Amino acid sequence: MAGGMLPIHVIQATSRGVRSALDGLLALLLAPRCAACEALLSRPLDGAVCEGCWERIRLITPPACRLCGDPLPSWRTATLENGTCPRCRRAPGHIDRGGSAGHYEGALRSIVHALKYEGRRSIAPDLAALMRSRCRDLLLDADAIVPVPLHARRLRARGFNQAEEIARHLELPVMACLWRQRDTQPQNELPASRRHRNVRDAFGLKETRAGAWRRGRWGQPCADSPSIAGKRLVLVDDVSTTGATLQECARMLKLGGAREVRAVTAARVVRSRP
Ligand SMILES: [Zn+2]
Ligand SMILES: [Zn+2]
Repeated sequence: MAGGMLPIHVIQATSRGVRSALDGLLALLLAPRCAACEALLSRPLDGAVCEGCWERIRLITPPACRLCGDPLPSWRTATLENGTCPRCRRAPGHIDRGGSAGHYEGALRSIVHALKYEGRRSIAPDLAALMRSRCRDLLLDADAIVPVPLHARRLRARGFNQAEEIARHLELPVMACLWRQRDTQPQNELPASRRHRNVRDAFGLKETRAGAWRRGRWGQPCADSPSIAGKRLVLVDDVSTTGATLQECARMLKLGGAREVRAVTAARVVRSRP
């Protein structure tokens, strides 16, 4: 062995051994529980959520509507209807393409809640990894990620924006160019019929000056948003319910000159069952 160096497989085996010993020690001493199902974690170093919870997520599998991500009943309907669901055909909106990793229910709902309401920020990279693998083609040739913003008051209360936490791990530049100018009522507290009105004009575009994003005028898209013009942007949020929030954000980005706006969320409340 030249220079007393250990072969790489010996180093890897040793670090695996150390890691599993440390995992065992942590599991014994701290007895940490899964942030989603509260089962004891056998490998706490692997993350705050247990393997079982990640496996229990009900994924959204193709064929799905290319605009909103809702599952479509068959490949035949997908081909006949140009890959869109009846709802998107009736009201196409401002999003060019969209998708979600899984259904907002069961394990995924608990995982999102743990991130958002229990402040388990360490879940964000794992959720982002799930989105990268499930929505690969939506992220592939995009220029930047735009996280859906929280209102300043809610941001202060929560301490972080879950959409931004996820966005940071999607391996693309993040442009936090939107801001929420009205502290809207949470969409899940409203009937579907009132959700569009609730978020109408709730968002504004920030201006860039000297490389820093600043707030634009109230409700007005900024004339000088050079970093958005002509770009392919991906709006990112944790959950999409009716899609009203994403549509309103997309409308602002298009007003700011974005060439294409896509939307990717970790979870989606699927409205039309195939
Ligand atoms: Zn679990
Ligand atoms: Zn659709």
